[in-house]
Amino acid sequence: MDKLVVVIPAYFEEEILDSTISTLTDIYEELLKDKKISQDSTMLFVNDGSTDQTWSIIENSRKGNPFVTGINLSRNTGHQNALWAGMTVASQDADMIVTIDADLQDDPRAIIEMVDDYHAGYDVVYGVRNNRDSDTAFKRDTAGLFYKFMNKIGVKTIPNHADFRLLSNRAVKNLLAFPERNLFLRGMVPLVGFPSTKVFYARRVRKAGKSKYPLRKMLLFAWDGITSFSEVPIRAIMVLGLTMVVFSAIYVLYALIRWLTGYTTTGWTSIMISIWLLGGIELIVVGIVGEYIGKIFKEVKRRPRFIIQEDLYTKANPVPRSK
Ligand code: UDP
Ligand code: MG
Repeated sequence: MDKLVVVIPAYFEEEILDSTISTLTDIYEELLKDKKISQDSTMLFVNDGSTDQTWSIIENSRKGNPFVTGINLSRNTGHQNALWAGMTVASQDADMIVTIDADLQDDPRAIIEMVDDYHAGYDVVYGVRNNRDSDTAFKRDTAGLFYKFMNKIGVKTIPNHADFRLLSNRAVKNLLAFPERNLFLRGMVPLVGFPSTKVFYARRVRKAGKSKYPLRKMLLFAWDGITSFSEVPIRAIMVLGLTMVVFSAIYVLYALIRWLTGYTTTGWTSIMISIWLLGGIELIVVGIVGEYIGKIFKEVKRRPRFIIQEDLYTKANPVPRSK
């Protein structure tokens, strides 16, 4: 029988955890009843450095609910790193690993379908939203544009898929072997390959607590995704440079003709415009190049992606089962 571990990152989620745990418990019981998962299947909560009641709720629920385990990270490391931490710990012995947000905006009942697809032989099952009514029109439109743009510049992502997915043990192990520190999981998972499929569900509104992705963080995440996966911005600089050389050649010709015909005193306006315009363009260019250098800097430091302070999962499974 195959062990299912659902990894749930949680950052200041005290208001919603109890209901998340009880919803997921029902799903575990249903899966167990139908003999689709093994008895030792668990939920693995990852407390991503929240300082509210999140961790104590996890610890306390564990006492009455055998499905609950968790790890407590030493500080906040962000959603993607928290997922990585959970997958790393679960990959010790889980046959299937599902990742889902603590707010259960992604329909947890889709997990049942994912498990069925796993048994049908798929290593990767993407959860895909078939409506985004619960998001604001703004979020919907910008997200749509972002994924279109990403696909245009050659980064394959699954449209309307966030970080709700099932991975088999071998898919997770191969994903975890990716050395990069700049994590953008929805771009990385398709690179792992293996047979994959999709499960569709309706995304709901957050029942309690606040979104941890305000506009500023969302834009940063998008920009991070682009620059971690694509050299297009750097190439665009090259095209920009070439275009400017062509235009300046025309302008040089024009200036020479003016000089030859004796009209050389004018030109203050054009000089001012070129200084400011070129200065601006150069700063943007340096900024984009700098972004990549910053990424390289972060990569070469090889700092740990997360640090575990407490690990209730491994304590509960002291001897990793041999595979
Ligand atoms: N999260 C996390 N660390 C962070 C920010 C968020 O572990 O630094 C978790 C959060 O608890 C939730 C998930 O990531 O389980 C997604 O966050 P949220 O629901 O706020 O994002 P949204 O659905 O609004 O995009
Ligand atoms: Mg959410």
